Amino acid sequence: MSKRISKQTLKKLLAWFWEVREEYFFREERNPYRVWVSEVVLQQTRIQAALKPLQRFFHHFPDVASLANASEEKVVYEFRGLGYYSRARNLRKGALYLTENFSGKLPKTYDELLQVPSIGPYTAAAIASICFDLPHPVCDGNVKRVLLRVNKWPLVPRDPQTDKKCIQQLQKLYKGLPAGDTNEAIMELGQKICTRSKPKCGDCPISEYCKAYAEDVVNDYPMKAQKPPKVDVNWHIFIVKRGEDILLQRWNDFYFLKKQVAFPSLLEFPQDGMQKCSWSDSKHSVSQLIKKYEAQPLKTLKHGITKHRISIFPHVISSKTWEKNTNKNTLLWTPQQQVPEYLVSSALNKIWKSFANSENLHDENT
Ligand code: SF4
Repeated sequence: MSKRISKQTLKKLLAWFWEVREEYFFREERNPYRVWVSEVVLQQTRIQAALKPLQRFFHHFPDVASLANASEEKVVYEFRGLGYYSRARNLRKGALYLTENFSGKLPKTYDELLQVPSIGPYTAAAIASICFDLPHPVCDGNVKRVLLRVNKWPLVPRDPQTDKKCIQQLQKLYKGLPAGDTNEAIMELGQKICTRSKPKCGDCPISEYCKAYAEDVVNDYPMKAQKPPKVDVNWHIFIVKRGEDILLQRWNDFYFLKKQVAFPSLLEFPQDGMQKCSWSDSKHSVSQLIKKYEAQPLKTLKHGITKHRISIFPHVISSKTWEKNTNKNTLLWTPQQQVPEYLVSSALNKIWKSFANSENLHDENT
């Protein structure tokens, strides 16, 4: 048996896929809008974690028009639980573009799909193949892992050369095969059998074609890239109370959290002695602010965002004023029962719950 991926390999894979496939609600009827949104989400969020938030998102935005007509804040809020919120903003931009240029429909060619904000080569290939049966291979982490092992290619997944090689190889084989199902079959194999750790080669429908398996070197593939060094961050959050109101701040571009409503915050970077404030370039250090406002600490929380290893330090302050050098347009004194409606990040929601418990607030939202 030749250890080379061929049309025969993909046919075997398809036969397996048609037996084990799970029909997810977002792929029912191959609705291009739903496939678009879900593929954007699933590139960075695991499918099991995404199911519930996606269902809620589609409940609020069942089609391109409803997404285009919603405010950016509403779209970001309904995206909660999925993380990486720039994707929510880009989806809305995409919906506006589709409304203006394609009467609210997804275009049917790969090149036109690529023009839509939020749609890159992976998403364009997924929509083109799944919805319109066009022969465009998708190339995500699962596909690359499978092909790097089957071919025993000494490449790392993040190398753009890897994408190029994978797509070239598959493109030659897709003629005459159902493109959408073939893409889904390879992705499903990567998700369920050819997993990152402990792949189940004994259950693999294409093990007879796999070079890494034949040579017993599966664990050496894909080759590992060097990880970027971790960056430590101390995130100081100031929960400022004025009677029943809480001070929130509208952030435009604040380091790793962009365009969100959150609490005034200060970031410390212990590795290089730098600090950044959400309200201005404050000359105050954290300890000076704590002293000035007689801040009371809440429980510290650990959190991770991409390469950042974050320790969150919440501080509660009772004050009618806040730092003078803050742009007043960004501040919102908000009734405390409405605060959860603004908080998108899971870390901020945890902090708010901890604050609500400490204050004995028993609102249904908290
Ligand atoms: S035999 Fe193992 S390594 Fe090769 S494709 Fe199948 S699961 Fe992946």
